[in-house]
Amino acid sequence: MMQKPGTSNQEAHPPLENDAGSRLDRLTSSESLAAATPVMAQYLDVKATHPDDLVFFQMGDFYELFFDDAVKAAQELDITLSKRGQHMGEDVPMSGVPVQTVDDYLRTLIDRGHSVAICDQTEDPAAARKRGSKAVIRREITRLVTRGTVTEDKLLTPSRSNYLMALAQVRGDTGKPGGSPAVSEHGVGLLALSAAVPQTSTATSYQGATKSPGGVALAWVDISTGTFRLAETDAGRLVADVMRLDPQELIVADSVFHDETLRPGFDQLGAIVRPQPTVLFDSGSAEGRLARFFGVTTLDGFGAFSRAELAAAAAVVAYVDKTQLAGRPLLSRPERESGGSTLFIDTATQTNLELMKTLSGDRDGGLLKTIDRTVTGGGARLLAERLTSPLTDPDGINHRLDAVSWFLADTALADATRKVLRGSADMPRALSRLALGRGGPRDLGIIHQGFEAAGMLANLLVGKDAPAEIAGAVTDLRALPEPVGLLLEETLAEDLPLVRRDGGFVRSGHHEELDAMRTLRDESRKVIAGLQQHYANETGIKSLKIRHNNVLGYFIEVTANRAATLTGSDEARARFIHRQTTASLMRFTTTELADLESRIANAADRALTIELGIFDTLAQTVIEAADPIRRAARAIALIDVSAALARLADQQAYCRPVVDKSTRFRIVGGRHPVVELALRNQAESPFVANDCDLSPSEGAKEGAIWLLTGPNMGGKSTFLRQNALIAILAQTGSFVPAGSAEIGVVDRLFSRVGASDDLARGRSTFMVEMVETAAILNQASERSLVILDEIGRGTATFDGLSIAWAAVEHLHEVNRCRGLFATHFHELTVLSEKLPRLANATMRVKEWEGDVIFLHEVGPGAADRSYGIQVARLAGLPASVVARARAVLDQLEESERQSPGRQLIDGLPLFSAEVERKSVSRSGPSEIEAELAALDPDDMTAREALEALYALRAKLLHMQERNSDRKQGGAQHNM
Ligand code: ATP
Repeated sequence: MMQKPGTSNQEAHPPLENDAGSRLDRLTSSESLAAATPVMAQYLDVKATHPDDLVFFQMGDFYELFFDDAVKAAQELDITLSKRGQHMGEDVPMSGVPVQTVDDYLRTLIDRGHSVAICDQTEDPAAARKRGSKAVIRREITRLVTRGTVTEDKLLTPSRSNYLMALAQVRGDTGKPGGSPAVSEHGVGLLALSAAVPQTSTATSYQGATKSPGGVALAWVDISTGTFRLAETDAGRLVADVMRLDPQELIVADSVFHDETLRPGFDQLGAIVRPQPTVLFDSGSAEGRLARFFGVTTLDGFGAFSRAELAAAAAVVAYVDKTQLAGRPLLSRPERESGGSTLFIDTATQTNLELMKTLSGDRDGGLLKTIDRTVTGGGARLLAERLTSPLTDPDGINHRLDAVSWFLADTALADATRKVLRGSADMPRALSRLALGRGGPRDLGIIHQGFEAAGMLANLLVGKDAPAEIAGAVTDLRALPEPVGLLLEETLAEDLPLVRRDGGFVRSGHHEELDAMRTLRDESRKVIAGLQQHYANETGIKSLKIRHNNVLGYFIEVTANRAATLTGSDEARARFIHRQTTASLMRFTTTELADLESRIANAADRALTIELGIFDTLAQTVIEAADPIRRAARAIALIDVSAALARLADQQAYCRPVVDKSTRFRIVGGRHPVVELALRNQAESPFVANDCDLSPSEGAKEGAIWLLTGPNMGGKSTFLRQNALIAILAQTGSFVPAGSAEIGVVDRLFSRVGASDDLARGRSTFMVEMVETAAILNQASERSLVILDEIGRGTATFDGLSIAWAAVEHLHEVNRCRGLFATHFHELTVLSEKLPRLANATMRVKEWEGDVIFLHEVGPGAADRSYGIQVARLAGLPASVVARARAVLDQLEESERQSPGRQLIDGLPLFSAEVERKSVSRSGPSEIEAELAALDPDDMTAREALEALYALRAKLLHMQERNSDRKQGGAQHNM
């Protein structure tokens, strides 16, 4: 880590004051400003406007930080803390980083949750000097660097999108017919973030709407690529939606952030949530602000958006403006993501299925990394996007699958395609940097490469009877404006420098005057060398050099002890004009050298001016072609993903799933993509493929539920997860790890697998388990797929068994979804006799000389034991404990055989959804209640009252009898 020389160490400084806020107030007080040096006063002015950001204050080649910022940066970046004079009688702590390598430091700071305000010198120091010797160089905040708004390659991960997201919530009101709806602020009122409460979005389209019910919406942009999306959400799915998109920053209105009901959700999301002034989220002015940002008079051409969506979009744009002060990013028009079009995967399921990363946070071992064969950054980002938002429309899914099949059928073409793709670069990110004025010659080079790759891809794929997705992509590739590509080709040099500042990126032969100036500049160097030789000969000083620096320009330099030759006579002094003496050197100039210098300087300046002009023209030309460039980049990503999925299918023997609107779920020879690979890498015995069939029986609509029992370590969890992953992969548009797969699209995937506590939110392991189970039972529909791995394990046996029992009944009778339920409660297997769509399946094992051998095979039937003790022995429990456990188990099993508990459970009346539904949905009073209400005791004789009482009681008894007969009849029917 770089350290600046001449600095003192950290202990020399007083510790940070606790109350940094009041310290800042004091520093920026008028008294403090009056006492400050001009530069320090300028700094304090800037700091006062950015109290919460670390201010990077440019001073020449360094960004310096002062006071508390300096201490914080020194701690976080492990750089030296020094001091810069005194202010109001105290040392001014200072730390700094070089401008050249600032990105490296920014990465660390933003990763640790800091935001940085970059205050750049915005005028040439020479220009400031001209204003007077004490004039301070003009400095301005040019940008706020936050996690969600970075564009530099070093601060981004190529394979990941970098989203900035805004959440807006508007309360319902009646709006004004025909006009802009009245502003309704951001109170959240009744919304609750409980995963257990099903909520549906109520916000409606803004266009033409005279009523504007409230709603919650998310808007997210990736300013490094220009992506801009919107979606409605609701309190129930908010956290899941945010986690799915995995933004780097989520901005919310202050008023919403402090709302008691939403706060737990924000706490769960952690440091990414950044409260902002509520005014940014004002829904009343949102449309106007968006229109201004996109330079249009109305948003009508953009599509229909709800008020909450507009408010979120306008907040994102306002935040972008607030952070990107020196430039405006090129954002695409906002696209709406409609809720029902993607498979909803709730928060717990996203985490537990380890889609993006493992439970321990590693990307290695997550599903994405396992299946990713893309070769471009854009392709990797698109694959991640698809995996987090699988489709629910079979046509859309089949289009994607067609593209994969096409590449799979012609592996030579796929290989050639991937070769071209490898040579293409990340056009959208380069485009964004150019638009923000942060681009360099290499960004132009990236666009040029992208044009070349697009041309080659189009030539490779055109006329090959490609399916719709690929044909559409080829059309987009061919729509790139050819003249732009040609211009880049003709203009750019082969080797491009990183920064434009020094020129050297325009190809020679492209611009006549530039070539002439370069020749003069470069040949002048030869002339200088010749002149040096001449002076060396003339003076006899072999070590004489002609050098250059920014202060003196060109000068003749000799060591002090040889200088007498140049100063010894009037003649010599007239010829060699003295400029400077240092400890060991003397510097001179001559009229001849000064002349040459001005010619060289002019040529170099002129050459640079021409080059910078060419850069601006090229950048502008590229920016004007932003739309076709983005579409072509998307096409490249799409081709990459399709070819990559074909490669995956080929390498790993995946099959094309049949995806339709049915409720089938029939997997033959299914495998777990990650476990299979892990076993192969560890050279373990191969993965055992298993079938799973949850399809409805002939003529029925609803799919089945499998109750899976079997030994510990038998492979139950793996089996459950692999089927969920197969459904996700299929709906992503990927082939799947199976021999064959038929899948009726799943609308929501729920899982309750693995158990962990959430102490930060005050939830024990069991509570987390119950909250997740509640969410499933409340929300799963006939189209959903539910994966339940052992519920009811975190409490007393009977409580757990009862909950598991009732949950299975609920899933079967009320949710009527497809499901897999793994359990060690073997008692539950009797339920299959009563619930027609419930089937028992078990993981097979062999017992051999008291040991258990796991076959990892799923077959019909029920296990009668879990072999927990054998597994415990394998795990190395002391022999005495194993022996004692065996004895205890024998005794428990014996008493279980004699206990009537089993019959009691078997005999319990079935949970009857119908009865419950009736009782829940019955809105009016019962017959008896109605009769009772109709009586007027004041108007009755004692005898009439008594008779009425007898009649009501008789009616009640009769009804109870009837209900009990009906229930028994239903149970017999089910059996
Ligand atoms: P427990 O009830 O103890 O939680 P389980 O039945 O859920 O166990 P898993 O965790 O699914 O068992 O599997 C245990 C191990 O068995 C896995 O880590 C894996 O290595 C191996 N395994 C699971 N399924 C298979 C399979 N189909 N083929 C080969 N190995 C498998």
